[in-house]
Amino acid sequence: MIDLRSDTVTRPSPAMREAMAMADVGDDVFGEDPTVNRLQEQVAQLLGKEAALYVPSGTMGNQLCIKVHTHPGDEVIAERGSHVFNYETAGGAFLSSIQIHTVDGERGRLDIEGITRAIRPSFYYMPRTRLVCLENTHNRAGGTTYSLERMKEVFAFSREKGLKLHLDGARLWNACVARGVSPAAFAACADSVSVCLSKGLGAPVGSVIAGARSFIDEARHYRKIFGGGMRQAGILAAAGLYALDHNVERLREDHEKAAFLARELATLPGMSIDLETVETNIVIIDVERASVSPAEILSRLRERGILLSLGNYLGLRAVTHLDVSMKDVQQAASVVRDVMLNLQGA
Ligand SMILES: *Cc1c(COP(=O)(O)O)cnc(C)c1O
Repeated sequence: MIDLRSDTVTRPSPAMREAMAMADVGDDVFGEDPTVNRLQEQVAQLLGKEAALYVPSGTMGNQLCIKVHTHPGDEVIAERGSHVFNYETAGGAFLSSIQIHTVDGERGRLDIEGITRAIRPSFYYMPRTRLVCLENTHNRAGGTTYSLERMKEVFAFSREKGLKLHLDGARLWNACVARGVSPAAFAACADSVSVCLSKGLGAPVGSVIAGARSFIDEARHYRKIFGGGMRQAGILAAAGLYALDHNVERLREDHEKAAFLARELATLPGMSIDLETVETNIVIIDVERASVSPAEILSRLRERGILLSLGNYLGLRAVTHLDVSMKDVQQAASVVRDVMLNLQGA
């Protein structure tokens, strides 16, 4: 099977497993796991923040940041297609009693005008706008990135309005490689950042959040409440350290594979792709004009050994990652071509 459903399907390599097996560990609830501490220090430094905290998932990372930034009844501004709004099972409502105010972005990107319209005036009978969430890269929009200029602009504006800014950087590494911007430069445009180690970087588990020391101290408290206090987590953190050392620059190859796939599929009958969104490792394929449903296309591809997933409405999604080679992607493109030409009766 050539699995292009997500960059989360990667398995730890033998060398990563070796690093995990050899990790020094201790009880991280006591703050005594040296490998977790090293990972947290390294990510804090990479992101130019005072402190960082290892968490089990990107969802917990985002939800902890929302929790610490807000009070019950507050409003959080987020893009309509954002992960925090669509894929975190209403965690903001459940865990923090906040309401998300969605704004339509341009290919997932928010701008000052959109945010301005969403900020509530300060009447006692309205929710209090407290936080802006940006997503870079933007998953549902197809891995699109923010320019550093746009992020700076939005951050400066948020500051001016007294709002906090959280950056959902599950795939920030991809944005950095695609834009040639350092993680610290993007992170400087946010009060808090969450980054995933288990997407393109290929670690089996784990995310890290970063921010000011007092912010991270609060987040650690809530991490325990949310059930995310872990013991000898250094075994997992070692995979994250290995991933940061070996798997960041190679994301460029994933971007090349996605660009190739997008160019190939864009010409097929029944498929259309907004090539401008293909900046990193995600390809969203619009199949609205196909003669059969997206689910039917997926099942025909599966029979031929190719796995894609459902994207946004009437869309399919292909994600490249370190466990699929350029050759696999070429093979996938040729199978998709075959299946679509058959379906469209050409
Ligand atoms: C994957 C992802 C997350 C976190 O997902 P988990 O599966 O909880 O680790 C958060 N934000 C974005 C944009 C993502 O793509």
